Amino acid sequence: ESAVSLQAVRKRYDRGEPVFALDGVTLDLPRGSYTAVMGPSGSGKSTLMNLVGLLDTPTDGRVVVDGRDVATLSGADRTALRGEAVGFVFQTFNLMPRLTALDNVALPMVFAGVARANREARATALLGGVGLGDRLDHLPNELSGGQRQRVAIARALANDPTILLADEPTGNLDSKTSADVLALFDELNAEGNTVLLVTHERDVAEHAERIVHILDGRLERVEELDTVSHI
Ligand code: ADP
Ligand code: ADP
Repeated sequence: ESAVSLQAVRKRYDRGEPVFALDGVTLDLPRGSYTAVMGPSGSGKSTLMNLVGLLDTPTDGRVVVDGRDVATLSGADRTALRGEAVGFVFQTFNLMPRLTALDNVALPMVFAGVARANREARATALLGGVGLGDRLDHLPNELSGGQRQRVAIARALANDPTILLADEPTGNLDSKTSADVLALFDELNAEGNTVLLVTHERDVAEHAERIVHILDGRLERVEELDTVSHI
C-alpha cells in the first residue's frame, strides 16, 4: 500500500465565486518515494498540501493516508492521524520561540502520549541526526536559519511519520544553507522516508525522483527524473 493516495480529488472553495482549487487529481506517493510539486501561484499547491497533510478534506474523490480513507474519519480521528502520520516542514520554520530545540522536537511526542524519558531520548537522537547534538538547549533565536530548519525537520520526524511534507523549506535560507537542508532531505529519503516537497525552484525540485507539475488545479505533467545523476 502507498503512503498516500489521491483518487480523482476535487476541492471546491465557495468563498465568493466557487473555484475548484483542485479538479480531478489522481496521485500516488509510494512508500519511500520523493516527489516535488511545482506550479505557479494559485495553481493549487497549498490545497494539495492541506489535503495530503490532513488539514482539510476533499469535496469529491478519495484521500487515503497510511491506508485510511480520510472521508471515513471523524474530525478527532483525522487530527490524531495527522499527528501520527504527517511531519510538516514550513518555509518559516514555525518553532515555538520559548521552547529549546529539544523541547520543540519533543512536543509532537507530548501530544502522542510518549513518556518524558522516551521523548527526551528520541529528541536528543533526532537532533544529533540533523547535526545539532550540541544545540539541544538553545532557543530558536539563538540558532541560525539553517539550524532552525534542521530543528523543524527533527520535529517533523518525531513521531516517525508516514509522509514528510515540506512547503518551500528553503524559501528563507541562503543558497549554501539551502544546499545543506536539501542534502538532509536527500539523506532522509535514502533512509526510507517518503517526502513531498513544494517549491518554486527547479533546482530544488530536482532533488526529488519526480516532479509533479500542477496548473489550474490539475496535474499537467509528471516528470520522472534520473535520480542517479543527482547523487
Ligand atoms: P497555490 O498554493 O498554488 O498558490 P492554492 O492552493 O493556494 O494555490 O489556491 C488554488 C486556488 O484556490 C486559487 O484560485 C485560490 O484563490 C483558491 N483558494 C485557495 N484557498 C482558498 C480558500 N480558503 N477560500 C477560497 N479560495 C481559496
Ligand atoms: P548554519 O550555516 O549551520 O546554519 P551559521 O554558520 O549561519 O550556521 O551559524 C554559525 C553559528 O552562529 C551558529 O552556531 C549559531 O549559533 C550562530 N548564529 C548564526 N546566526 C545567528 C542568529 N541570527 N542569531 C543568533 N546566533 C546565530
